[in-house]
Amino acid sequence: MDGASTSADVVDVLAVTEGAPRIPHLYVHWPFCARKCPYCDFNSHAGRDAEHGRYAAALIEEARRWRGRVDARTVFVGGGTPTHVDAEGLERYLGGIAEALGFDAVEEWTIEANPGSLDRAKVRALRRVGVNRTSLGVQSFDDRHLKTLGRVHEASDAVRGIEILREGDMPRFSLDLILATPGQTLADQERDLQRAVDLEPEHVSAYVLTFEEGTAFTDLMRQGRMPAPDPDRELDHLHLACERLAAAGLARYEISNFARPGAESRHNLAYWRNADWIGIGAGAHSHVQGRRWANVADPAAYAGRIEAGALPTAWDEHVDAPNRALEFVLMGLRLTEGLDLATVEAATGIRYETTHKEELDELLRHGLVALEGRRLRLVGRGFDLANTVIQRLRPRTSA
Ligand code: SF4
Repeated sequence: MDGASTSADVVDVLAVTEGAPRIPHLYVHWPFCARKCPYCDFNSHAGRDAEHGRYAAALIEEARRWRGRVDARTVFVGGGTPTHVDAEGLERYLGGIAEALGFDAVEEWTIEANPGSLDRAKVRALRRVGVNRTSLGVQSFDDRHLKTLGRVHEASDAVRGIEILREGDMPRFSLDLILATPGQTLADQERDLQRAVDLEPEHVSAYVLTFEEGTAFTDLMRQGRMPAPDPDRELDHLHLACERLAAAGLARYEISNFARPGAESRHNLAYWRNADWIGIGAGAHSHVQGRRWANVADPAAYAGRIEAGALPTAWDEHVDAPNRALEFVLMGLRLTEGLDLATVEAATGIRYETTHKEELDELLRHGLVALEGRRLRLVGRGFDLANTVIQRLRPRTSA
């Protein structure tokens, strides 16, 4: 039992997207990893390698169902560890999806990779199918902190991984870093950032470590065996990252993402701009014109649904206007470009300058946001206080 609703409880998502404009963004979920990291709450599973073949076949079949409705401009393969499969299996599942949907219009095709799971044969396979961007989960260049994080790779694997990507003519790559790992000093952080910058990436994602429910780290913290998060320390690490990355020409374009001009992740920009996308695979979420849904999370249950010819959908919902407005605010304010209030009004009928006049005046007075024409964006300390700003801008009738 996968714990999800039966397909009778959800609408036929294929039918409700009939006649909608073809969907320009595709997410593919590969839910397998070599080992479960102790801070990770993603839908990822270790020790289930025997399921790779069956799961890959289900992914390709789900992609076929979307033929004619998806015209992908961006594709993002995330996980899990999408490269935790041999080169042949990698080429088979990615090539199968590309063939099922026709990827003629794809401009950006990103895959997440763990430095410990990359080799030359896999990079060749990625290039053959058309992947042109890799997001490398480096997390740290210090083996002590990688050990704390329970990562399977060492710092030398990350450097080697980048060499392999370059030798294999991968056109673009991004590095992922985790900030404020327990035991990591600011000096350690600075060294990590310097190592990252020395490798000349065009893009860096730098997320402060979060303690999520149900993870081993959160259990350790509750038992007093790991320090509780310290918001001031976290901000110090984040501010240092902003400063060092900006000095290296990597501008902050989202709260935790930095890029050279033109190298921003187009796929992730689509999420932050609340665009439409289809997600395929176990637990993958989709969003089309104010309707959201997610597939069943367990990979075997997902594959079973597909094999039975059933919908893999676990739940779906129609997002009402106030909640849709909140989504625009939650996602759009993360971007330094901010949020176009005219777009929010066109999609929801909610005119923020009228419904939230008092709150906007107060936020402007405190220098937390700027409003230029109808574009609202965080400024100054507003980035550090983003959650507070968003709370003030909650539509009153939203759930
Ligand atoms: S490699 Fe990534 S997805 Fe897999 S367990 Fe670690 S953090 Fe989670």
